[in-house]
Amino acid sequence: MSTLREVPAEAVIASHQLMLRAGVMRKLGNGLFVYLPFGLRAFRKVENIIRQEMDAIGALEYKQPVVVPGDIWKESGRWETMGDGMLKARNRLDQDLVVSPTAEEAFTAVIRDELNSYKQLPIVAYQINTKFRDEIRPRYGVMRGREFTMKDAYSFHATQESLDETYDKFAIAYRKVFKRLGLKVIPVRADSGAMGGNGSEEFMVESVIGDDTLILCPKCGYSANTEKAACQPDVATDKNGNPQVETNLQIEKVACAGVETIAQMEEFFKMSAKQFIKVLIYKVYNSELDLSSAPGGNTFKKVSGGEGVPHYPESFFAVAIRGDLDVNEAKLASVLKASEVELACEDDVIAYSGAPHGFVGPVGLTKLPLLADESVMVQKDGKWVANLHDTVTGGGVADFDNLHVEPGRDFVPFMAADVRTVVAGDKCCNCGAEYYSTKGNELGHIFKLGYKYTKSMNVTFLDENGKQQIPTMGCYGIGVDRALASIIEEHHDDNGIIWPMSVAPYQVAVVPVKYAGAMKEAADKIYDELTKAGVEVLLDDRDERPGVKFKDIDLLGIPLRIVVGEKNLPNVEFKNRKTGDMQLVPAEEAGAKAKAFVDAELAALNG
Ligand code: ATP
Ligand code: MG
Repeated sequence: MSTLREVPAEAVIASHQLMLRAGVMRKLGNGLFVYLPFGLRAFRKVENIIRQEMDAIGALEYKQPVVVPGDIWKESGRWETMGDGMLKARNRLDQDLVVSPTAEEAFTAVIRDELNSYKQLPIVAYQINTKFRDEIRPRYGVMRGREFTMKDAYSFHATQESLDETYDKFAIAYRKVFKRLGLKVIPVRADSGAMGGNGSEEFMVESVIGDDTLILCPKCGYSANTEKAACQPDVATDKNGNPQVETNLQIEKVACAGVETIAQMEEFFKMSAKQFIKVLIYKVYNSELDLSSAPGGNTFKKVSGGEGVPHYPESFFAVAIRGDLDVNEAKLASVLKASEVELACEDDVIAYSGAPHGFVGPVGLTKLPLLADESVMVQKDGKWVANLHDTVTGGGVADFDNLHVEPGRDFVPFMAADVRTVVAGDKCCNCGAEYYSTKGNELGHIFKLGYKYTKSMNVTFLDENGKQQIPTMGCYGIGVDRALASIIEEHHDDNGIIWPMSVAPYQVAVVPVKYAGAMKEAADKIYDELTKAGVEVLLDDRDERPGVKFKDIDLLGIPLRIVVGEKNLPNVEFKNRKTGDMQLVPAEEAGAKAKAFVDAELAALNG
């Protein structure tokens, strides 16, 4: 047992600190960890709970090699597109190899060779195996490591209905897994972005160090990642809180050198940011929209022909949004059917809009298409409707702003869409209640992949009519290490880990104050009884001071501690790690009582 008294300086979050202090794991290198014997027991239990729930829905376990041929990644196209996160290697025969960051390719290749007939479908395959991702910034211990273990499952189907059915089974199985692990998860419909396909759900745990921002509705339970969250458009008001009114006044150019930010504009014009329109110029990669009728559309290079969808490798868009709101780039990319968007550099901003950043306006843009966020304009029954009136915008030339700009009268966008970043306080798109927001960490992800891999890797089967078809796919992941760390995040106190019974490295610890004489005899007896009853029991037979042993067992988080002390015999002391409750129990009954406690705790988690 390798416990540490001091909090290791390198660890900033509770789970990382406790995993080191309790001797769950040690760091071998950056993002590389070794599980020590006690920690490994908890780790295996997490694996086994996941395995049981996978088996229960009829998924079949495989074991893929971790190092796989580069060729299958070349077939899918991801050899080029995965980026530096994928560790590639070359062997002495000059063959390309990949240290698996995920295994869509490997499973698709295996199933391709086994699959002939629709009668074999659906196939639901999984593994619990090592992954390697060369994360730029491994952090928070095993939460984001370089080498980690993932349960990854892949399903293959003859029909969309069959995929839907399996996907729903996973959605239920995941909820069972997380309940059994003692984890409170928030399922959110995620942005499946570049993965393609439509159905997708992420399982998040609330966490201050979460990488994702979640938008949640307290009333109807709507939950979404900010990447995807939508909201009801709100009515923009003027600075007195009154509705904005349409103006008949013509645009007036106002010299305002140095007034660039929204805050400076509010001060200068004595108006609310809700009456400003800010316009941002974006560089857009690989948009699949048809821009042939858009301003500037024919100046962007279009790639058609070949297998792929016609697209514009590079184009520019102006985005108009209400002054107090922010553009969400993930939503924008999705609306523009683009692989990526980024703010244009100053030279491009001037070239496309005529004005430097801070003075770009929506009026008179001819060199690029204008997208209006729904806060500015929407299209209703084929007509443009303005949501802002009598607005202030950039003047389209340096050091000038425009006053009295009326959307619709003074400019008409090429398209409108919801691209704002939804924040706490915005109105739920389902029920109108006010959202709240929290940070979350992704533990698992299920999604419908569709034909991406089966098409690129030529997987086919013969249907009932003997016709060749391509199967559709789903894929489903859970991070085992991250789940383990999240359990500790959720279940600990100042004294250490408080394992849920389902994942505790040992269920019961028997701690003789001194392992000698009558105490040894009583402790051995309880240990034997519990072992026979199938309880996982740890006997602390170390020659250490009692205080040291008690502290270690608490730090280690064993749910039930049985102290055998001379002065209490023939009674022994039960201590519940979670509640802190202590109780004297006759040594005779200790075995049966401890077993009953273990069973009740397990039943509560598994039920
Ligand atoms: P993240 O956004 O956190 O990087 P991801 O979207 O890359 O996650 P997936 O590719 O869907 O994750 O992988 C499935 C699961 O594997 C994740 O939900 C997470 O639990 C786990 N996981 C992913 N990357 C890591 C990592 N670097 N360290 C530990 N676990 C990871
Ligand atoms: Mg990742």
